[in-house]
Amino acid sequence: MNAEELKNFEVELDGEKLLLKQTGPMPEKAFAYLQKHIARLNKFKTIGWWHGARSVSFFDPPLPHPAGKRGLVDRLERVFIRARKPAAATLAITYDCQADCEHCSCSQNRRKERPLNTEQWKKIITETVDLGTTNVIFTGGEPLLHKDLCELISHVDEQKATTLMFTNGELLTEDRCKKLADAGLYSMFISLDCPDPAGHDRLRRREGLYAKIMENVDHAKRAGLLVGFSIYLTHQKHKNGELEQFMEIGKRAGVSEIIQFDAVPTGRLYGQMNILLSPEDREQIRQQTLKHYHEAKPEYPTLTSQSLVNSPKSMGCFGAFNQFYMTAYGDMCPCDFTPITFGNAVELGVEEVWRRMTTHPLWSKRFPDCRMQSADFRAQTVDCIPDDSPKPCSIEMVDEACGRPVINHSG
Ligand code: SF4
Ligand code: SF4
Repeated sequence: MNAEELKNFEVELDGEKLLLKQTGPMPEKAFAYLQKHIARLNKFKTIGWWHGARSVSFFDPPLPHPAGKRGLVDRLERVFIRARKPAAATLAITYDCQADCEHCSCSQNRRKERPLNTEQWKKIITETVDLGTTNVIFTGGEPLLHKDLCELISHVDEQKATTLMFTNGELLTEDRCKKLADAGLYSMFISLDCPDPAGHDRLRRREGLYAKIMENVDHAKRAGLLVGFSIYLTHQKHKNGELEQFMEIGKRAGVSEIIQFDAVPTGRLYGQMNILLSPEDREQIRQQTLKHYHEAKPEYPTLTSQSLVNSPKSMGCFGAFNQFYMTAYGDMCPCDFTPITFGNAVELGVEEVWRRMTTHPLWSKRFPDCRMQSADFRAQTVDCIPDDSPKPCSIEMVDEACGRPVINHSG
């Protein structure tokens, strides 16, 4: 199939409805696929607008913005010419943080050496976007503690990719939000761990944080940023009915989207297998998500749940398929929750490490579910990592510890 022909379309807006137009020769199958996809997007609730384009999720660039069209072309290339492109790249630009969460997943990654500097990050961002990324995600630590965050956000070519930030929300003053919007930030998720304010502050070991978040949501909205909450569910939190409580809080705060993550035993939760959601829990969360999707009540935020999206009923695992995570030192991993690195992007370049990751026998094929919640997959990978090994652990060390041949890239 001719890859150039996969670009021969345009998307337009008629009110809130996306219209698809063919602009040149295009493989019939590819155009039919796109028609179906656009019809699906039209069923989603509009959660906001960015540069006149319609957003249905912070994870997708809005349409018909050029970054949105680029995302569609990448999607076609993944399906029809089996291109392996990281649609999303999560960059941990700092591990500094003023909170001290009981469940912090990145504390294990902190090292004594200096994190990448701003010029190194800019080079990484350019390489990442050139590789096909349409959603550059800034995380930490706390990204707002990085002195050049706005410079990094503006370095992302807005015509090619949108930007998303995960934050603990404490430092979102009115002035800061305005600067983030001026730098071109598209959206942000503020972490919320517990529907009860005292519980949230206790888990984050930061008194007054919940109240500050609720105040700061308005600053972000007033600056024109799309703002949502990021939540995670353990088996117990799910049993406590937290998902619906978070949806009510989201409604009251007027946020656009809630992203639910499944708890994964990594970082400070390493080894705590009792936090995992059971298959029944995940099915219930899927049903709750679908209920909110079908009801599409405008006063509620859109709910995106990992239990649904990364399940066999939807898209499966994204790690090394269409996303990667990078530590503050440039080490590339399949995702934030996989403490395994395939190499350092400063030393080898983003493209080469992505190639190593996507050609490794355990990550080269689609995996129908969350790898880090699969006991079998963990047994072949993270369970072999010696306790005293630095994290993330190199794939060479993991392969050797698990008794597999170590791949030699020097030839
Ligand atoms: S706010 Fe984020 S980076 Fe900071 S301690 Fe909590 S989980 Fe870790
Ligand atoms: S292993 Fe896959 S599904 Fe699980 S958190 Fe990582 S990317 Fe997501």
